[in-house]
Amino acid sequence: MTEESTLPRGVMMIGAHPDDETIMVGGTLAMLSARGVPVYIVCATDGRGGESGGLPGVDSPAKLAAVRALELKNAAAALGAATVMQLGYEDPVIGPGDRLFGFAADADELATRIGDLIRVQGVDVVLTHGSDGEYGHPAHIQVHQAVLCAVKEQQIDVSVYGVAARVPEIEDRLWNISDPAHLALDITPWREAKIAAMECHTSQHELFKRRRKLKTVREALRFTETFHRHWPPVAGESGPEPELRDGFARAVLGAGGRYIDPRK
Ligand SMILES: [Zn+2]
Repeated sequence: MTEESTLPRGVMMIGAHPDDETIMVGGTLAMLSARGVPVYIVCATDGRGGESGGLPGVDSPAKLAAVRALELKNAAAALGAATVMQLGYEDPVIGPGDRLFGFAADADELATRIGDLIRVQGVDVVLTHGSDGEYGHPAHIQVHQAVLCAVKEQQIDVSVYGVAARVPEIEDRLWNISDPAHLALDITPWREAKIAAMECHTSQHELFKRRRKLKTVREALRFTETFHRHWPPVAGESGPEPELRDGFARAVLGAGGRYIDPRK
């Protein structure tokens, strides 16, 4: 088998907000596009509920949504993605005390739309939020559940990986505590593409820096991207390795990634 024939036909990253694709898996998406794998980015909401980052003229949620659509498009281009699609759900404004909300979507309709996109693009790998919504974001959890619901109910033949899976040796507020990592990739070789994509999300720069008390966007880069396979389930009795032979696992391992035995 040639390397090309073992790579995924296509990979779709389905996130809740503009910037999730970059923060969670920007390095991996850049690696995949560099190897010729078509990458499709799907974003459920318009991001209007986030911070405007003090950008001049961005004085309403609608204007922020327009700015963030352009930021997302530019970030997707920086990562080499083939297309970027927004589902257009309105992102609720962050509440007092930084309270986060899900977005208004009929769960069945959301799952149907996601399933249709996966089938139309013909991808065999889907990346999405983890089961805890990383730091518990309700919109991330909504998207995670909708993806799994779509794939199971419509019986779509794809592997579904959750991002920001927990690895024991690294501390990160993003980790999904319920999802032990099966795969981890050091994205150092693709870091410049990820930083370029982070730079595109200008409205979120203050947020990127403030959360971790950093001075520059570059410092906010996460060098390790991790994945838990949610579908098909990994039984785990014999360790993940024999069961994880799908196109995504081969691509990550071929790029210098490693298997992690989640039982350890
Ligand atoms: Zn998000």
